[in-house]
Amino acid sequence: MKSGERFDCIVIGAGVMGSAIALRLAQAGQRVLVLEKAVPGAEASSAAGGILAPQVEGEHDGPLFRLALASRERYPAFADEIRDISGHDPGYRRSGLVRAALSEEELAAWLAEREWQRGAG
Ligand SMILES: Cc1cc2nc3c(=O)[nH]c(=O)nc-3n(C[C@H](O)[C@H](O)[C@H](O)COP(=O)(O)OP(=O)(O)OC[C@H]3O[C@@H](n4cnc5c(N)ncnc54)[C@H](O)[C@@H]3O)c2cc1C
Repeated sequence: MKSGERFDCIVIGAGVMGSAIALRLAQAGQRVLVLEKAVPGAEASSAAGGILAPQVEGEHDGPLFRLALASRERYPAFADEIRDISGHDPGYRRSGLVRAALSEEELAAWLAEREWQRGAG
């Protein structure tokens, strides 16, 4: 950054959130400055397991659950875009997820969960 240089937007934090927001702002023609106090991507974004599973974490149907599903549907295209822009493969794979019930109670809870999730499509 040069002295006196001006920006339209400042994003604080270069994890996946700040970086993705900065990317979209830049693509929209904004001059963006990203400020990171340590190492880009080295905090929660590096710790994450990378699991994108709204059905596992959602407790009931509603706007947040629908938003999470819609967001995940957009993720493959986003991963492709990131690979094309950066030359790094984010490693996105649609693999599904296996859950093991360790008790009758857990199984009953998950069967109930399956019902509302089927109802939600
Ligand atoms: C152990 C673990 C496992 C997880 N597993 C999953 C998972 O499987 N699936 C999933 O979807 N999510 C998972 N998450 C959540 C996911 O990692 C976070 O939601 C996501 O990474 C948040 O991104 P972020 O950019 O907001 O935060 P971060 O990646 O933490 O980025 C924030 C950045 O801001 C910087 N910063 C903070 N304050 C300042 C400041 N004052 N000035 C400049 N820079 C600053 C930090 O140094 C950091 O680099 C997991 C999280 C953890 C901790």
